[in-house]
Amino acid sequence: MVKLAEWRGKEIFRRYGIALPRGRVVRSPEEALSLTESGDIPLPCVVKAQVLAGGRGKGGAVRFASSPAEAAEAARGILGMEFHGETVKELLLEEKLPIARELYLSLTLDRSARLPLLIASAHGGVEIESVAESDLLRLPIHPFAGLSSYEKRRVLRTLGLSGSTAKSVDGMLDRLWRAFQHEDAELIEVNPLAVVGEGVVALDAKVIIEDDATFRHPEYADIRDDRTPLEEVAREKGIAFVQLDGDIGVIANGAGLTMATLDVLQQFGGRPGVFLDLGGTDDPAKVTEAFLLMARAKPSAVFLNIFGGVTRCDTVARGLAAAIAQVPPAERFPLVARIRGNNEEEGIAILREAGITSLHELQESAQAAVAASKGARP
Ligand code: GDP
Ligand code: MN
Repeated sequence: MVKLAEWRGKEIFRRYGIALPRGRVVRSPEEALSLTESGDIPLPCVVKAQVLAGGRGKGGAVRFASSPAEAAEAARGILGMEFHGETVKELLLEEKLPIARELYLSLTLDRSARLPLLIASAHGGVEIESVAESDLLRLPIHPFAGLSSYEKRRVLRTLGLSGSTAKSVDGMLDRLWRAFQHEDAELIEVNPLAVVGEGVVALDAKVIIEDDATFRHPEYADIRDDRTPLEEVAREKGIAFVQLDGDIGVIANGAGLTMATLDVLQQFGGRPGVFLDLGGTDDPAKVTEAFLLMARAKPSAVFLNIFGGVTRCDTVARGLAAAIAQVPPAERFPLVARIRGNNEEEGIAILREAGITSLHELQESAQAAVAASKGARP
């Protein structure tokens, strides 16, 4: 999977004639200052961190500036910041456009239907997972025929567009489809697609190139790396750690229980963001290390689901208690625990000492973790 930074995605968009704000990649506050002073980037402007994680808007990694000094200051504030484990090294400096509406469009692969899938929504600018299913149009696309006129009309109706704005989206749909096919993408997402004046502009670009096609794309050889920076650290330490798009951290042991835990959270409306498979470890220090790594991903809540076997419950609890003591209070997150099995009583007692209650049932604890991720106290 080759996940492209926004500016690289937009470079592709530009080649296909998709309307974009005027922008430049910058790597220092000085560059931001001079590009806005010279008028190369008109003011007001937007300063955007070039990281792979989404939610930059909410996370303070997209800022606005109305003078060159402000642009430089925003750049200084964002460069070097750690965003979901990734250090910001590049920014995209763009003109700020007056947005009338924010829409959503994406093309992806529906692997079970074995077809490309177009998703459209009139509710753009927010994470698509938070949009009600009834507000989404999901349209399977014939891979050879492409987008037909009536399919495009359905999209325009969903987006509530008519007149010249509709015409502008109609053209963009053709271009996005062409880009999706010719670039061997497995995802092209435009969120938001902004209505500006009579037309539409792609304000954001998320592009993922299909793994099996990367041999056709030597241009991505230098960025063909699946691992996030935190995953890289984990790999060096021999910790099984995977970052997903959600926000709940999961600590479990064994691949089966870990996968089942992700499913249960999802079932109760939670979005797993990072998971750690403790596997069979008998070293509390290893657990501490793994937990601190997870803390760096800034989960909204952590669900610990352990079935003690080779990895005994007290080992996990000891490692965890030591780790919690090392996380500064301001960076703590709610933790819901369920530990069962070998040395369960001892583990529960150690957790209780550390101020963590261990729940018994899987469903009950998963629901508590989801609630905690949404702000309820566990
Ligand atoms: P994300 O949060 O990581 O998906 O980053 P986006 O690129 O989607 O930007 C987040 C939000 O910033 C968008 O939903 C817009 O509301 C806002 N934004 C970005 N560019 C512009 C712009 O040119 N003009 C205005 N008014 N808002 C913008
Ligand atoms: Mn976006």
